[in-house]
Amino acid sequence: MAEETILIVDDDIRNVEFLRDSLLAPSGYTTLCATNGQEALRLALTEQPDLILLDLQMPKLDGFEVLEALAREGMEIPTILITAHGSESVAVQAFRLGVRDYFPKPFKVTEIMQAVERSLAEARLRKEKQQLTARVEAVNRQLEQRVKELEILYGISKSVASLLDLDTLLTRVVEATTYVTGAEEISLFLLEADTQELLLRAVQGVGDQQARQLKRKSDNAVVRQVMATGQVAMIHGPRSHKTDPLQATLAVPLKTRGGTIGVLCASSKAAMQPFSDNDHFLLSVLADFAAVAIENAGLFAEVEEQRGKLETILAGSQDLIVVADDEAEVLLVNPAAAEAFCLEPQQAAGRPLHDVIGSEAFDRLFRGPAAGNGTRNVELPFTDGRAFHASLSPVADVGCVLIMRDITHLRELDRMKSDFVASITHDLRSPLTAVHGSLRLLPQLGQLNEEQLEFAERAMRNVEQMDKLISSLLDIGRIEAGLEMEMASVRLEEVVEEVVANLQGEAKSKGLDLDAVIADDLSLVRGNHTRLVQVMSNLLDNAIRYTPPGGKVLVRAGDDSDEVWVSVSDTGVGIPAHARDHIFDKFYRVEGPGTLGSEGMGLGLATVKSIVEKHGGRVWVETKEGEGSTFRFVLPKMPADSSEG
Ligand code: ADP
Repeated sequence: MAEETILIVDDDIRNVEFLRDSLLAPSGYTTLCATNGQEALRLALTEQPDLILLDLQMPKLDGFEVLEALAREGMEIPTILITAHGSESVAVQAFRLGVRDYFPKPFKVTEIMQAVERSLAEARLRKEKQQLTARVEAVNRQLEQRVKELEILYGISKSVASLLDLDTLLTRVVEATTYVTGAEEISLFLLEADTQELLLRAVQGVGDQQARQLKRKSDNAVVRQVMATGQVAMIHGPRSHKTDPLQATLAVPLKTRGGTIGVLCASSKAAMQPFSDNDHFLLSVLADFAAVAIENAGLFAEVEEQRGKLETILAGSQDLIVVADDEAEVLLVNPAAAEAFCLEPQQAAGRPLHDVIGSEAFDRLFRGPAAGNGTRNVELPFTDGRAFHASLSPVADVGCVLIMRDITHLRELDRMKSDFVASITHDLRSPLTAVHGSLRLLPQLGQLNEEQLEFAERAMRNVEQMDKLISSLLDIGRIEAGLEMEMASVRLEEVVEEVVANLQGEAKSKGLDLDAVIADDLSLVRGNHTRLVQVMSNLLDNAIRYTPPGGKVLVRAGDDSDEVWVSVSDTGVGIPAHARDHIFDKFYRVEGPGTLGSEGMGLGLATVKSIVEKHGGRVWVETKEGEGSTFRFVLPKMPADSSEG
């Protein structure tokens, strides 16, 4: 309160002194005094008191004239009017001129003091309100400014983020930096990934020809310091010599999750002021956007490069390559595949895989057994006579990739080899029969000594072994040619039971537990009973042969939707990974401790495969070395409307 100033105006100095000395000064107010209107007006204008106690009748300028003059000057000082000649019209005019209170003389001291207090309290409130409004307005202006800056930043960041070409992007970033900070010289340095050198990549406003040269190494200590520390540097000082004008520099790091990738540096020559905190904030935000955009542009360039390489590989590959998503919709086909499936590469994308490769091939592929890594390998014949080895592999987050290799020439070689073996074996049969006959007759021609007898018996055993081989080869030849393959409806449970019964004795003598679990009501298959017995015998014979004593052999059979399956599992030696792709080949035998001492020609599984495939089925093995194997074959069910039986 003591800080408030009250101007006392009265042409009677005694009144002035009374108000000042007896009332206002003791209450702690500062007072100004005037005894005429002119003096009052001057003091009011110069000192701007908080309240005026104004006498109405005064020489030179009366109270109303003072108030009017103040109003003309735009001054609104609370005033209490005190007059000796009060009347209603005076009071009306006084209030019209904004007077707060009006007291006729003589006034009561308490009333005057209350009025003074009231007026000052009002004035105080008004002042606070004005100050508050001014503060709110200032904050509002600041906020508007911030919003405007952020809008600009947002606009810049949007345009920067959409750029994927690195050089264009860097140019845009330095332009934006000039715009945001108002600095004249902008340089952007990026760390080279290979050499770890900090090189100038974009520049604006730098006059020095040499300093403008892109790809030059940074020689600026501030920039190098920001790169090393990852901290902003704000400097305001002489350019280089004491006599040079001041220069303000603001250098911010370009940071990504992987660390600092570069520095964005803004300088203002002849700058009287250093960069402000707001400049610091704006440039840091811009640098963050820029760093993300630079990283994105780098990743995009990398992806583009990879895509280019991949496209070249795909285009150059002779293999047919088709990539499909999880829904088996084609994502891409390479030119070789497009040609083979008579498509335009662009037409294939988005179409169902079975549409593109044909539903028969599709069925074969997806019905094929999957290896441990999910890959399915099948052979696919084309209607034009070509044969393909198709490999369908799952690809994480994509779907699957189908790679098909033309193996027509291999099939042709295989056929030629089979023809050759067939004719050779045929030609070998007759001389072998003659040798066999002669050997049998030999003892009848005269007494043989012990050594002669042993030679003759050994020769006989070899001839018989060779005969067996020739029989097997001729047999495979016949199977491949479709001979001795009359088809009828076959009950697979009968086949299984027959073979299990036949080999039960052998299993027992080897100390093996042989069992069969066959589902009820197994569907009929269309096949050749004798050949299917041969399949079961070969598989079961192998299982017994390659399982050490004390092991288990289990035969199981059951129905799938449109196929019947049979499996032969053992707890035997298993098959090493490198051999799995070959065990169905002719003459292939695994050489190893597990198979050592077992006689065989490597034709058993080749025969199984030929027979099963002649029945329209498939055979494969699941095995783990040292733990056992499961051979499984499937045959199509006999169609329900088939009249055979
Ligand atoms: P082989 O007359 O040699 O048995 P197969 O064609 O029947 O000829 O089998 C080829 C090879 O596959 C065998 O030499 C053997 O190494 C392996 N094999 C076949 N069945 C089994 C099995 N159940 N357990 C382990 N290895 C097996």
